[in-house]
Amino acid sequence: MGKKEKGRIQSIRGTRDILPPESDRWLWLEERCRCVLGRFGYSEIRGPLFEHTELFQKGTGEGTDIVLKQMYTFQDRAGRSLTLRPEGTPSVARAVIERGLLKRAKVLKLYYIGPMFRYDRPQAGRYRQFDQLGAELVGVPGVEGDAESVHLHVMLLRELGLSQFTVKVNSVGCSKCRPTYSRLMRERLSDELENLCEDCRERFERNPLRVLDCKVKGCKEVAQGVPPILESLCDECRSQFEEFKARLGLIGLSFQEDPGLVRGLDYYTKAAFEIHHDLLGAQSALGGGGRYDGLIELYGGPPTPAVGFAAGLDRILLSVEKEEVAVPPALPVEVYVASVSQAGREKCFVLASSLREKFRVEVDLLGRSLQAQMKAANSVATRFSVIIGEEELSSGIYTVRDMESGEQEKVPEQDLREYLRRRLGL
Ligand SMILES: [Zn+2]
Ligand SMILES: [Zn+2]
Repeated sequence: MGKKEKGRIQSIRGTRDILPPESDRWLWLEERCRCVLGRFGYSEIRGPLFEHTELFQKGTGEGTDIVLKQMYTFQDRAGRSLTLRPEGTPSVARAVIERGLLKRAKVLKLYYIGPMFRYDRPQAGRYRQFDQLGAELVGVPGVEGDAESVHLHVMLLRELGLSQFTVKVNSVGCSKCRPTYSRLMRERLSDELENLCEDCRERFERNPLRVLDCKVKGCKEVAQGVPPILESLCDECRSQFEEFKARLGLIGLSFQEDPGLVRGLDYYTKAAFEIHHDLLGAQSALGGGGRYDGLIELYGGPPTPAVGFAAGLDRILLSVEKEEVAVPPALPVEVYVASVSQAGREKCFVLASSLREKFRVEVDLLGRSLQAQMKAANSVATRFSVIIGEEELSSGIYTVRDMESGEQEKVPEQDLREYLRRRLGL
């Protein structure tokens, strides 16, 4: 049921149509990303866009903003509660268990690209259906996995020509040491409750760490008075964090430590990271992730170490604009087949159809004049036009016009493919 205005059905608030030529930029972005993911040995997993609501309640976390306020949850016709996926990691974890993927391989490298859905306040560059790329490395307990995950994210950005971004890292502790820190935070915050925003007063109960990444000014001030989590880490988490940073150094990745980086989701443990663009202002996070060793077990699978990240493709494209990266244009039309008169139209149609086995070809479908066809050929920036008039029809020798130089040559039909191949440098 669409909202009707004067009988016209409009798109849902927070959604958009990605139109050409913008869609060419998306294609470029996705192709570059898939190429890098391939170099790191990742394969794509294509899961459903909706899942049982419970999957996100349990994994993403009951107390998170996503589950509390942002999910598109509905009952289907059988009365089941379903949710459009607000993030990708829970579905991947579910699939790992349900499809027995760990029985086939000790290490899984899976990525996804596609839409996520969150009922968030739409604003510039933020949509309720938005696109994310995620990469999950499952089965690797050590810090090499953490460092490789960060490196992959960085390489994705570099592949797109981006350079003005900052990697931030932190540790969010484990099931042994995080409760200690949560207790300490509750103690510190209990005297300051009136200075916290409404959301943070809720977080105080459920997950006080989240107060650390609240953007509200009063909360930020309170958060500054709290000792960083690094001081509460257990020995294992502390030494892993040091090793993680050392591995990043080994592969020449510079980073900043950010004690306020806690990630918005409940399942993160130990290494956490985010990448921020330096020119994007307040909403600068391009992506982030970290280790989530408990998630697969939480869903009933075996204890399984895992690390991964999700990147927001809208913001990444915004950064591509900000850094004025030259995105290569979409592939242009190579050949426009034009007819001088109505008599040649049939031949044009047949020739265009057969040339399309090799070349990108346009032909007029509207019965337009030669002048209009040439205008159309110019507007699609074609490299060559093949022009068919009376003479060409009877001789089978066509006029090929180089649309850049304006030069024309006569080419017999049997030589046409070879001629175009040579001139196009194919
Ligand atoms: Zn720990
Ligand atoms: Zn707050």
